[in-house]
Amino acid sequence: EIPFEIEKVNLENIPRPRTKIMMNVGNPEEAFDLSFLPNDGVGLAREEFILTNYVRIHPMALVHFDQLKEGEDKKKIIEMTEIYPRKTDFFVEKLSEGIGMIAAAFYPKDVIVRLSDFKTNEYANLIGGQDFEPIERNPMIGFRGASRYYNPRYQEGFALECQAIRKARETFGLFNIKIMIPVVRTVEEGKKVIAEMEKNGLKKGEKGLEIYMMCEIPSNVILAEEFCEIFDGFSIGSNDLTQLVLGVDRDSEIVASLYDERNEAVKRMISSVIKTAKQKQKKIGICGEAPSNYPEFAEFLVKEGIDSLSLSADVVIKTTLNILELEKNLFQSS
Ligand code: PEP
Ligand code: MG
Repeated sequence: EIPFEIEKVNLENIPRPRTKIMMNVGNPEEAFDLSFLPNDGVGLAREEFILTNYVRIHPMALVHFDQLKEGEDKKKIIEMTEIYPRKTDFFVEKLSEGIGMIAAAFYPKDVIVRLSDFKTNEYANLIGGQDFEPIERNPMIGFRGASRYYNPRYQEGFALECQAIRKARETFGLFNIKIMIPVVRTVEEGKKVIAEMEKNGLKKGEKGLEIYMMCEIPSNVILAEEFCEIFDGFSIGSNDLTQLVLGVDRDSEIVASLYDERNEAVKRMISSVIKTAKQKQKKIGICGEAPSNYPEFAEFLVKEGIDSLSLSADVVIKTTLNILELEKNLFQSS
């Protein structure tokens, strides 16, 4: 559904702000409609929606199909993958289709695809997933993000994700696709993921491939200089960053009142990483919900000099108009 505001504004007459206004997109079927909003591309295309609704099967269940226990899941997988000579082709085709739909809708603007960032309990919900996922007490800070991609428990699944992105870029010609890595805990881990991607044919800098990391863990801010050496830039994940800076579980209702992106500690972390990225001449954006939730937070980020805001679709027009107004005052003399 197209956000209601679209009817009230003459889109032709909106100039572009200096700060890029991008969008968060999950559902490939909405991408074409959303692309008509004034925008500078997609700052966060989440794989999770596509995996849940298009692919539906856990990649490791396809890789190790023969090992799978007899039962409902196995029957479903046989049915769903009937026409594929190799079961893993099913995963690559469905995922590349979903990613391709988003990238094509916004072409030639950048579409930053984030590699899978389910928690283990969520991966387990995919068909066949339960046989391949550990049960964790704290999935939110568990086997998640970058740590999965080079770990033998998921490495072959990650290779399929890389193949799907390669297919969307090289077979469909959608070179506007860029990549983002979630939950990179250490610099070492960042290097491992970059090497793993290269092994799977996705080399940073080749054919215009940019690789970003989410900045969503305090270590990412503290060691921002070091991370700048290995990635093309950051997108701030203010949802997780707030959780981890304040030590508040995003999903706990009891402490929900303490979860606030506008807390001074979170803002200082964000100012710090923006400053470092700019010093190092790396790109810095945000794709967490803070600027979508609070107009004053979007303003704070623009004042700090952020390059792009990736927003939920329903606030794109309103925020664009606010930022245009703010920038008029900020850059009056230039
Ligand atoms: C974030 O952490 O801010 C983010 C955008 O990622 P997710 O909400 O998917 O963890
Ligand atoms: Mg996150």
